[in-house]
Amino acid sequence: MKTPEFPIFLPDATHGAVRSVSSSDLIEAKVEGVVVNTYHLADNEQRAKLDRTGGIKNMMDFQGFVASDSGGWQLFSLIHRRGKKEHITDEGVVFDSDEGKKVIFTPEKSVQTQFSIRPDMMICLDDFTPPEADSKRVRESVERTILWAKKSKEEYLRILDEQGIDERKKPLLLAVIQGGTDKELRKYCAQALIDIGFDAYGFGGYVVDENKGLDMEISEYVAELIPDDTIKFALGTGKPYDIVRLSDMGWDIFDCTLPTRDARHQRLYTFGNKPAGHKDLINPDIFQFLYIGKQIFKEDNRPIDELCDCYTCTNHTRAQLHNYFKTKDSMALRLATIHNLRHYTKLIEYLREYKHGSN
Ligand SMILES: [Zn+2]
Repeated sequence: MKTPEFPIFLPDATHGAVRSVSSSDLIEAKVEGVVVNTYHLADNEQRAKLDRTGGIKNMMDFQGFVASDSGGWQLFSLIHRRGKKEHITDEGVVFDSDEGKKVIFTPEKSVQTQFSIRPDMMICLDDFTPPEADSKRVRESVERTILWAKKSKEEYLRILDEQGIDERKKPLLLAVIQGGTDKELRKYCAQALIDIGFDAYGFGGYVVDENKGLDMEISEYVAELIPDDTIKFALGTGKPYDIVRLSDMGWDIFDCTLPTRDARHQRLYTFGNKPAGHKDLINPDIFQFLYIGKQIFKEDNRPIDELCDCYTCTNHTRAQLHNYFKTKDSMALRLATIHNLRHYTKLIEYLREYKHGSN
């Protein structure tokens, strides 16, 4: 088990790969870790492949920090799209697959799959609290999340014992704190999970404020519920400016599909100025972006961001990238993704250098 330096940003490697880039591109962009999706790796064929190769790091040829999610998010999205919420039970998740048969995904199955993935950090299956949930549903999701975390921990300990994995090599186990905007339930959930005991705790559910931004009050409240000697993972959050604010609250790990997805949609990040201290990072104006497809970049021979040291900015101009997108050259997605990932890892470097509380 490998503990990374914090804070850290983990891009999303959905099918065991970050879309459009190779593992050497990830290293070049100074990406230190990724999140892989358990749901896509849970079928027998994928698990057999993982067991054969010795885990996802070997499959990806990437030796950085790897966290595996529980698979819950994909399952709940699937259920939500099909309107079959009733298929979540205390036992696990029951749903109709594309073949029409019912499949049960349980907290235990999630842990078993994650042992095949062999990540540095595993995440317990939780009952995601939907943003529109009424108080009864919020309470239910909290109770079920605690129950599933308990079952996950038991299965985790059982497999550690069965496989003879010692203390130094065991993966970290994270439990997710649910409860929506209800502070009492968040506190109750956090305390129950702390009583069971985990290496890390995650911020569950995407809670938005009246401006549709991340609810910073709840984010800060939940951060304070988690003991400082454990790892705090702000699951699924990752707009650059949000990362700064969440990091100041004590959150250690961020993951988000945004930089890679935005890259594919021609939205590229830049720093307005080179930050000279923490006070520059908490100025939202420093976080800018451009749409490389716009005509104004057709003959722009500058790099995407003159402050960026990534492979793309070192070797290609805005005009070239504009043209690659226009002609649908596959280079476009790769170069744009490399740049956006480097923007995030650079932000993380600034956060490590300019600590909260300094100038
Ligand atoms: Zn760049």
